[in-house]
Amino acid sequence: MRTGFAKRGDFLPFSRPTIRQLEIDEVVDTLRSGWITTGPKAERFEKDFAAYTGFPHALALSSATAGQHIGLIALGVKPGDEVITTPMTWASTVNMIEVARATPVFVDIHRATLQIDESRLEAAVTPRTVGIIPVHYAGAPADMDPILDVARRHGLWVFEDAAHGVGCRYKGTHVGCYDRLGVFSFHPIKNMTTAEGGVLVTQDDELARTLRALRFHGLEKQAWNRYAEGGSPQVEIVLPGFKYNFMDMQAALGIHQLASVGEFNARRRELSSLYDKLLAEVPEIEPLAIPRYDHFHTRHLYVIKVLESAGVTRDRLIAELKVRNVGTGIHFRAVHTQPYYAARYPHWVGALPVAEWVSERLCSIPLFPLMSEDDVRYVVAAIKDVLVSAGGAGAPARK
Ligand SMILES: *Cc1c(COP(=O)(O)O)cnc(C)c1O
Repeated sequence: MRTGFAKRGDFLPFSRPTIRQLEIDEVVDTLRSGWITTGPKAERFEKDFAAYTGFPHALALSSATAGQHIGLIALGVKPGDEVITTPMTWASTVNMIEVARATPVFVDIHRATLQIDESRLEAAVTPRTVGIIPVHYAGAPADMDPILDVARRHGLWVFEDAAHGVGCRYKGTHVGCYDRLGVFSFHPIKNMTTAEGGVLVTQDDELARTLRALRFHGLEKQAWNRYAEGGSPQVEIVLPGFKYNFMDMQAALGIHQLASVGEFNARRRELSSLYDKLLAEVPEIEPLAIPRYDHFHTRHLYVIKVLESAGVTRDRLIAELKVRNVGTGIHFRAVHTQPYYAARYPHWVGALPVAEWVSERLCSIPLFPLMSEDDVRYVVAAIKDVLVSAGGAGAPARK
């Protein structure tokens, strides 16, 4: 069957960072300055990030995963503790629970939004539970009020995974620290980038002090200019720390990315609205629903679910889109189905039906600020072409 579809000549990736002359000049300036690792730009970036989110402490790090690692240590997680989280996340969220020798406890998700299902949270709490890690999935916030309510009633901490959430608000407040701690990521596919990087936010001075030492070799007092004139080369190790510091090379990108993240997010929202409109005509494809509670969505990912009526599997759709020069991503394969976790915790396999159902059916289609409206139209035309070529149900009825 013909749809008048014409394949584009170049490949449209699923994501691409917005790197402008501004960032390039700042990186070059850093290279020439003599301070290429943690220094004045990293310090400025942390101040800017704290001001942007409204939290008193922002600790920049080599990655969000590094933040998840030292965050759990600083919260005092011990072997045998249970930490509740969602299976619909990047593996690092669960890997770091495992690295802390604690036990991940999964709570299933909402099929419509893929956010953790807060109504199932309470049933997952046991006497060993110490905390909850909600994920603000795809740029929308998890429903924090009921989550915080369960946490308060059981004396649990909440450590938000806000890797997708720079600019995301829940009931008027920036996500990241409704309770003890939160982490953001600046990996190149995220809403702003520092190549690799992340930041921990907290309102707790004591926790911030511990995290600062854990981040850099266990040094409590850190002065980037200790080798400079007037600085002191003496250091004191107060605990065995890691080396997760954030370089000025990264901050050079981050300072300008953060200043523009509002524009980037606005563009993502425009492009997403166009997808919403165009995909409304494709009933075989189910886009993510928008949560009903008050929030500001940063549209980090445009996730679709490939329904049975499509006549193609998700994997086939991905392969066929690639043939049509469209890149896709999978965010995420439910973590408990990954080989390590399925072998270590076999009782979870089959126990999280919603996450398992979507895990087989979801994919992320291209969404990044440099895309054009025509790119969005092309992606939707390519999806329709795949469905028609597959002879999926409903295909003949479409114009
Ligand atoms: C990207 C991501 C992380 C990890 O971020 P890094 O900076 O790559 O370590 C953690 N959680 C979620 C949900 C993510 O998408």
